[in-house]
Amino acid sequence: MTCKLCLVPGYKDWEGQDPKCHFSKGEFNREGWNCGTANALRRVIPEDLIQYYEDQRFVAINIAKRELEAASLFLYISWYKNRGRLDSIKLIYSDGKTKLATEDDCVSLIEFIQRDKR
Ligand SMILES: [Zn+2]
Repeated sequence: MTCKLCLVPGYKDWEGQDPKCHFSKGEFNREGWNCGTANALRRVIPEDLIQYYEDQRFVAINIAKRELEAASLFLYISWYKNRGRLDSIKLIYSDGKTKLATEDDCVSLIEFIQRDKR
């Protein structure tokens, strides 16, 4: 399985290694590289929300206003430098449980974040 954005003709506009989808198993996995959906999500993250610890980046975005899954409070993303691999894309729920994001989660979160920014 590969996400829709990884399959967009012309998505790979760089020389060298092909993208590897972060959603090849449905849920996010760390084996991806330059995945279209993961990169699209990372691109919409407001710069001022990014926390840095040495070269690691972390973001927790409040998504409680999002109507799709009432109990999900935060989207958590982390990555190392600005490389093609993300370390984590998770949803954090009101009861403290977490879930690895799926492609569908990310697509709706990209829309939510873009809407929220306006
Ligand atoms: Zn992908």
